[in-house]
Amino acid sequence: MPYQPKVAEAKIVSHNEKNGLMEVVVVLEDRNHCRVTYETLPSGEKVPTDISRLHKEPCPVCKKDYLCNCMDPYLPEIGEQVSKFVDLG
Ligand SMILES: [Zn+2]
Repeated sequence: MPYQPKVAEAKIVSHNEKNGLMEVVVVLEDRNHCRVTYETLPSGEKVPTDISRLHKEPCPVCKKDYLCNCMDPYLPEIGEQVSKFVDLG
């Protein structure tokens, strides 16, 4: 069964007005924590460009507890859900 991430919490942890980079820490319902990086487009729109796990739990996809890229394909979906939790301006 494909992994279905479900965002339980999301919080903006940093926002650099100068370069438009924003970091959001996301807690998923399966207790995985991820950091999502956003860039600001010239139009002002925030787009999620990067996701990394915070290694609090083994990866929900490959079950390893070290660096992997399993969450990358889920970035658009997680980004979509995050926009309901935080005001991305
Ligand atoms: Zn993995």
